Amino acid sequence: MEKKIILILIVPIVKYFDLDSKENNFFFDIRKINRNFLSKKIIKEEKDIFHFLENIEKNEKVMELIKNRKEKKIIFTNYPKSKEEFISFNKELEKINLKINSIIIVDTINYDLVENLMKKYLICPICEKIFLRDENNKKKYNLCPNDEDIKFSQEILNKINIEMINYYFHNSKNIIELFLKNNSISNIQHIKIRNIEELFSEKIENEILKIINK
Ligand SMILES: [Zn+2]
Repeated sequence: MEKKIILILIVPIVKYFDLDSKENNFFFDIRKINRNFLSKKIIKEEKDIFHFLENIEKNEKVMELIKNRKEKKIIFTNYPKSKEEFISFNKELEKINLKINSIIIVDTINYDLVENLMKKYLICPICEKIFLRDENNKKKYNLCPNDEDIKFSQEILNKINIEMINYYFHNSKNIIELFLKNNSISNIQHIKIRNIEELFSEKIENEILKIINK
C-alpha cells in the first residue's frame, strides 16, 4: 500500500489534545523542531515572532524525520503553515514520490468561541497546545506543562498567540486554495467545534481519528 500524507489544519486555540502515533499512523510532532529553534534564538521583539512562525528551514529537518518512517499514514498538524512552506514541502515530498493526499480542517462554528477560549487559555508556541492562563503569574509565563522550563513575558506570549491565530486564518485559506489546484474537494474534510464542552470531550479527537482511519 502506498504511503499517505494527511494534513490537519486546526485553529491554534482549539488544539488541546495530542494524537498518539500507533500502528499505521504516525503523527508528526513539531515540538522538537520548535524547541530546537527556540534554544538557539530568544524571542525578544516582534520581528522574532515572525521569524519563528516563518521558519522555512524547518522543511529540511521535517523531511529528515519522516524519510524512514514505516507507517502507512503520516499526519501533520498545522505544518506546513504558510503558502511558501507548503510549496517547498510539496517539492520535498515529490522527491520521494509522496504528496499531501488529504486535508482535515478543524475549526469552530463562529469566531466568538475562538475569542472566549483566548480569554481563558494560552497557546504554547513550542508544542502548539493550549493551557490555562494563570492570572497570578502575570509577569512571567511558564509555558505548558511539557515546556515549563521556557518562560515568556505575558506581553510577548499574548502577542505570539494573536500572531499564531491570525497567521493561521490567513495562511490556511492559501494552503487550501493551493491544495485544490491539484486535488478534489472530496479530499478535504471539515470538523466544526460547536462549544467548549465539545472541545474538551474526546469527540473531536475521535472524529479526526475516524477520518484518518477510513
Ligand atoms: Zn508546550
